[in-house]
Amino acid sequence: MKCSILITGGAGFLGSHLCDRLVAEGHDVLCLDNFFTGGKRNVSHLLGRPNFELIRHDLVQPIFLEVDQIYNLACPASPIHYQYNPVKTVKTSVMGAIHMLGLAKRVKARILQASTSEVYGDPAVHPQKEDYRGNVNTIGIRSCYDEGKRCAETLFFDYHRQNKVDIRVVRIFNTYGPRMHPNDGRVVSNFIVKALKNQDITVFGDGTQTRSFCYVDDLIEGMIRMMNGPDNFIGPVNLGNPGEFSILELAEKIIEITHSKSKLVHDPLPQDDPRQRQPDITLAGEKLGWKPETGLEEGLKKTIEYFDEIL
Ligand code: NAD
Ligand code: UDP
Repeated sequence: MKCSILITGGAGFLGSHLCDRLVAEGHDVLCLDNFFTGGKRNVSHLLGRPNFELIRHDLVQPIFLEVDQIYNLACPASPIHYQYNPVKTVKTSVMGAIHMLGLAKRVKARILQASTSEVYGDPAVHPQKEDYRGNVNTIGIRSCYDEGKRCAETLFFDYHRQNKVDIRVVRIFNTYGPRMHPNDGRVVSNFIVKALKNQDITVFGDGTQTRSFCYVDDLIEGMIRMMNGPDNFIGPVNLGNPGEFSILELAEKIIEITHSKSKLVHDPLPQDDPRQRQPDITLAGEKLGWKPETGLEEGLKKTIEYFDEIL
C-alpha cells in the first residue's frame, strides 16, 4: 500500500538511502533536514520526482504535517559532529522525539526511532542482546548522544503506553557505505579517505577495540522490515552485522583493497570509547526474517569505489 512517509534527517547518510528506497517503491516521501551534517547533494537526484519533497526544518522546533509513517533519523551520528554542540545534540534527540511523537499521536502515524548501539555504552556483556541495559557514563563527552538516544527510547515507550502511539524502535550498530561525508569523522570514511590519498591513517588507542560494521543496504532493508513488521513487535531490535573486527584489522583491510601507501599512526583513545561491540541479531532474524547479506570486504569495495569517484 502506498503511503505518505516523513523521514527526519532524510538528507543524511542513512536517511538519503531510505529516501531512495521509499521513493522507488512509489510512496510519497517528505524528507526533513536542517542540513547540519546532511546536505541537499545527497538527495538532489530525487528533487524532480513528483513523490519527493524536501523540507528545511530544525526538529528542535515543532512542525505540523499529515503523514502515515515517520522514520525519525534526525541527529548527528559521528562523535566529532555530535560533540561539536552537545547541548544541541540532546535537544535534537529529546525535543525531536517529543515533536515527532506528538505528530504521530495527532495524525495516528506509525513512528520508527533510529536508536543506536550506543545505548549499551561500553558494554560489560558481549555480544549485546536487546535486554542488556548498558554501561553508559552520564557525564562524559559521549553522553549527549548516548543519553539523548536513551531518553528518546524512554519517550517512545511512554507515548506508546500512555497515548497508544504506534511505535517501532531499532538499535543500529555501526553502518557504513556510499554517501558518508568525506569529513564525517567516523572510522570507515576516515580510513578510506586517508588510504585513497596515501596519507597517514590515525588509529585511536592501540586499535584492538572492536566494532561490527553493517553495509548500508542491509541496514535500510532491516529498518523497512521493522516499520512494516508484525503488529505486536515494537522492539527494541538490534540491526547490525555481527562480523566483529578490531580497528587495526579494518585499517589493514582498507589499505589492502586500495593498495595504499598509507602508514598507521596512533593517537590517544578518546574518553569512553567502547572497547568492544557486536550485535546479537537473533531477535531480528526471528521476528523480521532479517540478516545482513553483505560481508565487510564486499561492502568496503563498494564504499571505496564511491569515495574514489567523489574525491
Ligand atoms: P548523518 O549525520 O549523516 O545524518 C543525520 C541527519 O540528521 C543529517 O542529515 C543532519 O543534517 C540531520 N539533523 C541533525 N540535527 C537535526 C535537527 N536538529 N533537525 C533536523 N535535522 C537534523 O548520520 P547517519 O549515519 O545517517 O545517522 C542517521 C540516524 O541513524 C541518526 O539518528 C543516528 O543516531 C542513527 N544511527 C546511525 C548509525 C550509523 O552507524 N550510521 C548507528 C547508530 C545510529
Ligand atoms: N577511530 C579511529 N580513527 C578514526 C576514527 C575512529 O581509530 O579516525 C576509532 C574510534 O576510536 C572507535 C572506532 O574507531 O574506537 C569507531 O569509531 P566511530 O567514530 O566510527 O564510531 P563509534 O565509536 O561511535 O562506534
